[in-house]
Amino acid sequence: MIRVHVRQIPPEGLHIEGEEPGENFLDLPPTDPVRAVGPVTYALDVGTDQHAIWATGTAALDVELECVRCLEKFTYPLEAPEFAAHVDLEDQETADLTPLVREDMILALPAHPHCDWAGDKVCAGLARTASPANGEVVPATDGADGSGQLTHHAWDALSQLKLRQD
Ligand SMILES: [Zn+2]
Repeated sequence: MIRVHVRQIPPEGLHIEGEEPGENFLDLPPTDPVRAVGPVTYALDVGTDQHAIWATGTAALDVELECVRCLEKFTYPLEAPEFAAHVDLEDQETADLTPLVREDMILALPAHPHCDWAGDKVCAGLARTASPANGEVVPATDGADGSGQLTHHAWDALSQLKLRQD
């Protein structure tokens, strides 16, 4: 648990860093293909005015995802790069930030994970969609998936560019 003791937060605030077991941290259903493959690491700045605490910082966890295209499993560095939370205090002496960090990390999970997200490989699923007749790649149909990532088509264009430069 990422827990802070309210009375141990000095007026100038507190910087906390640490690790939590990654397994079960995301608290996903057993059927979910997402698996933690390491610990959760976090670095947070915590402040309080005795009525509330707030925390800002980062948290990261390597997870194993399943590519929506080729179903291959791959490791993805899941990150909550701009974690920010505010917790109202009643009489408690400690505040547990775990659920808030968890929520941010789950929101950071790609909705449509692609194994070639980093651009250092070409998804095998993409190769299978190539037409043998003219060698052209069929445009990806999941380009507008809202994940904010480049589409497979774009990655393919990029990797071809790299090949030409070599
Ligand atoms: Zn793939």
